[in-house]
Amino acid sequence: MNTEALATDKAIRETVIAVHRWTDDLFSFKTTRPQGYQFTAGQYARLGLATDSDPIWRAYSITSAPDDDYLEYYSVTVPGGAFTTLLKDIKPGDGIWTEKQSYGFMTADRFSDGDELWMLSTGTGLGPFVSILRDPMAWKKFRHLVLVHCVRHAKEFAYQDQLFALQKNSPEGLAKLHIVQSATRETENRSGRLSGRITSLLENGELEKKVGIPITTASSRIMLCGNPEMIEDTRRILHLRGLRPCRRALPGQFVTENYW
Ligand code: NAP
Repeated sequence: MNTEALATDKAIRETVIAVHRWTDDLFSFKTTRPQGYQFTAGQYARLGLATDSDPIWRAYSITSAPDDDYLEYYSVTVPGGAFTTLLKDIKPGDGIWTEKQSYGFMTADRFSDGDELWMLSTGTGLGPFVSILRDPMAWKKFRHLVLVHCVRHAKEFAYQDQLFALQKNSPEGLAKLHIVQSATRETENRSGRLSGRITSLLENGELEKKVGIPITTASSRIMLCGNPEMIEDTRRILHLRGLRPCRRALPGQFVTENYW
């Protein structure tokens, strides 16, 4: 690999500064931030890991806030996956290539109006919403922020302490944060949690009932991130209810990002 060309052209080698393991398969890691690196909360970076031949590159949503002096990411170890097989053992001091440009359109400024921002996620699709909630922009733009995190097992509710702390410590006059957790494969759920898929909770009305706010074309703006099938199925449900995706020239009510 020609590292000099990478460093001066499109990517720069950053250093891992911390790793946090949530479960055997789920972990977050922080790296140093390239000088002058710009991103909007909700965007993703492209990371590269060196192999004996060419580096492998993957898109990773950034979970840190735009004004943090480091970059943070949330990852799952994909069984047999070429990239996460290399990534899963990273430790502070290791190097990781970071493209100098950020990517993605799932940002709160995509919506020109609206009262509530719904952030619907499965698994590691939570990542971009952690960054959005760590940034003041959405808190000023909307009256309600609704974060929905759906996982298979309760131990996969990563970042929950940080999210509940944001909810508790939010300043007067900013949006109210609602957090809904649902674990689909637990026999019993802790009180306050739901136990169905996002799609079922939308179809049976349980999600809106839990939050106490209806989803409407006039006031709801929605972001979807995670399992591609969840996104496809949810798009269909929203469509039937009259909501439309945001397009370049046409205002809509939802934006989506497949996580893999
Ligand atoms: P997942 O299968 O995405 O499940 C997470 C949650 O989404 C579960 O509660 C699941 O419900 C629900 N869900 C699944 N399909 C849905 C659908 N069509 N509609 C609505 N909800 C749906 O689990 P995961 O642990 O996040 O990831 C699953 C696999 O994908 C793992 O093997 C992981 O390695 C891989 N993955 C790959 C990447 C990548 O970058 N390549 C990234 C993330 C995950 P149920 O329990 O009912 O299924």
